[in-house]
Amino acid sequence: VGDRADFDSEVKSICPFCGVGCQVSLKVKDGRVKYVEGINGPANEGRLCVKGRFGFDYIHHPHRLTKPLIRREDAPAKGLNVEPGNWQQFFREAEWDEALDVAAGGWKRLKDQHGGEAVAGFGSAKCTNEEAYLFQKLIRQGFGHNNVDHCTRLCHASSVAALMENVGSGAVTATFNEIENADVAIVIGANPIENHPVAATYFKQFTKRGGKLIVMDPRGVGLRRYASHMLQFKPGADVSMLNAIMHVIVEEGLYDEQYIQAFTENWEAEKAHLKDFPPEKMEAICGIPAETLRDVARTFAQAQAGMIFWGMGVSQHIHGTDNSRCLISLALMTGHVGRPGTGLHPLRGQNNVQGASDAGLIPMFLPDYQDVTKQTVRDAFTAVWGSGDFSDKKGLTVTEILDAVHAGQIRGMYIQGENPAMSDPDVEHARDALAALEHLVVQDIFITETANFADVILPASAFYEKSGTVTNTNRQVQMGRPAVPPPGDAREDWEITVDLANRMGLGWRYDSPAEVFAEMAMNMPSLKNITWDRVANEGAITYPSLSPTDPGQAIVFGDGFPRAEGRAKFTPANVIAPDDLPDADYPMVMITGRQLEHWHTGSMTRRASVLDAVEPEANCSLHPSTLRKLGVEPGEMIRLTTKRGSIEIMARADRAVAPDNVFVPFAYVEAAANVLTNPALDPYGKIPEFKFSAVRVEKSGCL
Ligand code: SF4
Repeated sequence: VGDRADFDSEVKSICPFCGVGCQVSLKVKDGRVKYVEGINGPANEGRLCVKGRFGFDYIHHPHRLTKPLIRREDAPAKGLNVEPGNWQQFFREAEWDEALDVAAGGWKRLKDQHGGEAVAGFGSAKCTNEEAYLFQKLIRQGFGHNNVDHCTRLCHASSVAALMENVGSGAVTATFNEIENADVAIVIGANPIENHPVAATYFKQFTKRGGKLIVMDPRGVGLRRYASHMLQFKPGADVSMLNAIMHVIVEEGLYDEQYIQAFTENWEAEKAHLKDFPPEKMEAICGIPAETLRDVARTFAQAQAGMIFWGMGVSQHIHGTDNSRCLISLALMTGHVGRPGTGLHPLRGQNNVQGASDAGLIPMFLPDYQDVTKQTVRDAFTAVWGSGDFSDKKGLTVTEILDAVHAGQIRGMYIQGENPAMSDPDVEHARDALAALEHLVVQDIFITETANFADVILPASAFYEKSGTVTNTNRQVQMGRPAVPPPGDAREDWEITVDLANRMGLGWRYDSPAEVFAEMAMNMPSLKNITWDRVANEGAITYPSLSPTDPGQAIVFGDGFPRAEGRAKFTPANVIAPDDLPDADYPMVMITGRQLEHWHTGSMTRRASVLDAVEPEANCSLHPSTLRKLGVEPGEMIRLTTKRGSIEIMARADRAVAPDNVFVPFAYVEAAANVLTNPALDPYGKIPEFKFSAVRVEKSGCL
């Protein structure tokens, strides 16, 4: 960056990648972000990971969309790869008025011909709270239904389902920083060193001062080096393992009877259920010795203060909700909730997936998880919105919407900042659905794989080009600020959504995101005492905030839960096998996930020069013994085949991967992992089973 003192302006904002929500200072020179430093936010205290520090220059990439694009009438088939050199074959540039008219006009035509349910929307956890709120409002008010969802469906939907069911709230009960007050912490199905790297620094510090870290994962994730216990269990065996641990706690009388009596219900049913899970019976199923399971049970139950953190290794299963139910039960029976150093914390993925969910970007809930089936709830929103009653039917989820496209029920879509052509399971099925749409409007910063299918592409703003609040995994509402303007004719997403709504005849009037925030606060109890100005002035406010001067509550539910009689619930979890089990044709297990350098479908980080230089090529990881068996050297190409399809990808040796497993990142379009994944859904959270597919691995001919 040359002379670090040589910049024109400095802007405080929030890292746009993961749910940790690190605060950053953006140094701007000649209209470009020159470099980024961490500042003293509550979640990062000056720290940043490689993505936050070096992953910002995608915003200046020459591929940025700078003009609205409209598909040419003589364009080749939808879905072909649109590239910088050939986009004119597919699209023509347009002015905003024309593009917005065509975008909204197509939806109006479908609505007139087939009813409002013919058009659905995917909003974005990469947008601000205000943008997420406006997006769901447009779908509900403009089309009269609830077919609006976003990528939470693909990450923590099952965790939220279990938390809502048993605790009465879908957010974390304590910030991750509370680990500094814990004696023991469980991290399960998460790889924070790569996926929540700054949170991981707090976990490492915790072990340095003597805290006991229990890591549970089918991969030997990086935190194992800091762990007192590393349980590398068999993929899909979570419920057996966790029930065995809880069995020991019951058998040895290690549970907190007083807490259970005061704050929970259904304990007797849970206790009876756990009788069937003795560790000696479960060890062969989960691959963890019975004595280790007993030791973990004693360590966690006998601690003064324990926390549980989990990630998508827990949630992305057809039994994801049951996995989370087990974790909730474990915390409840040991009384590790609602006190310093205790709590339940699903580590949220996207920078604003918590906020987008809170803002109602989900098909079964209005903002703040208010039940869309209740007339009084809908009336409260339409009273604020001024008009437009909408359906009392829960809407369709991400994968259900694409199935409804195949069924001919949904014919048009509005997709803002999401990339289902890369992120959905069995992605060829998703791509076929996108190709079948009669009218697709994509709003994004690049021509993504999803935009390849668009009829209209609207050029939007990157995070460092906009104003708005975001909410991190800790429930901390923070302020994003623009450091540079969007390039060319690109605009902030909220402005585009407002213009589209008005072309749909909704008569919206907003002059700023602050006005949107004020409207949100009218019907969102979580925002009580939180104002735009407070967030701007104080930097971060954790909800709930109990007074206009309260910085917010890091720990909640110390005196009961937001459920009937203030009691949390035990829901016994049965063992459900993964949907796509290995057999003779597909003998290994594929697990998908992220790598440190790349973010989700790669549209941002693969255009960030440092990150792309560090990790430029599609790769997957296998145990060295597996590679030897296959006759493959590290760096050679292999073919992965599941019942859905096949990809060729470079193989790496990694002792952390179990011998009969393969780990595949999903950021690489040239070897898209989701060609292979299984679309089977958890029945409660409707989340696909990304973490378990039977796979055949072969040496490739393409060396
Ligand atoms: Fe950004 Fe997350 Fe890294 Fe913090 S930990 S710098 S929020 S990617």
